[in-house]
Amino acid sequence: MTAEPCLAVFDFDRTIVNDDSDATIINRLREKTPPPEWEGGDQDWTPYMSDVFQHAYSAGFHPADILDSIASMRPNPGMLELLRALATERWDVLVLTDANSVFVNHWLKTYGLQEAVTEVITNRAFWRNERLYIEPCMRQTTCARCPSNLCKSLALARWTQRQYGRVAYAGDGRNDFCPATSLPPNATVFPRKGYPMDDLIKKTLSSPAPLVRCKVVPWEHASTILEELFPGKYPVS
Ligand SMILES: [Mg+2]
Ligand SMILES: [Zn+2]
Repeated sequence: MTAEPCLAVFDFDRTIVNDDSDATIINRLREKTPPPEWEGGDQDWTPYMSDVFQHAYSAGFHPADILDSIASMRPNPGMLELLRALATERWDVLVLTDANSVFVNHWLKTYGLQEAVTEVITNRAFWRNERLYIEPCMRQTTCARCPSNLCKSLALARWTQRQYGRVAYAGDGRNDFCPATSLPPNATVFPRKGYPMDDLIKKTLSSPAPLVRCKVVPWEHASTILEELFPGKYPVS
């Protein structure tokens, strides 16, 4: 019997789902009207998405149009089985993402996973008169590696006040590299193969002073994560 609780942290876009939720909405918008210009560089992402939502509202998108697009995103292979197994094992499951609360909660609800997820930490979104608004998850200046609206290391440190027996972290993106460097040596990090997080981890592991100290298990199919966490217990059909 495990005395201490265990924690699994998941990114959302391109990790739990195969798509990117923001890109999904931007592409839907593009079918009707050109989306706002992305200036790149130092532009913050949440104000940009706020602009996208304004454009969507002006173009006559209803909340149902946006929510249906989100619901249509497919989970990555093996993800549903993995999240259900973690719920069965009574792990704490944290979804930590630079998407927004409306998208993530709607998707989890669509797939009946709200009970399996302990908490969603993300930018807060809300409807007002059928238009979607978004607020940054945080306003941070301490981590230079991450955007001001979300450093996943800081978010994790704030949220995980308790001691965990095991910690797993699955992600794909550049912003998943920062938390990977702050995980304890007994944690396991699962970068999606061939994505930026995987490349950044490979790079640091081949350097003289690697920033990642924990075990690294790259994955393509979420059954790799399931098998690593619970060997032989949940055979994949
Ligand atoms: Mg991602
Ligand atoms: Zn950071």
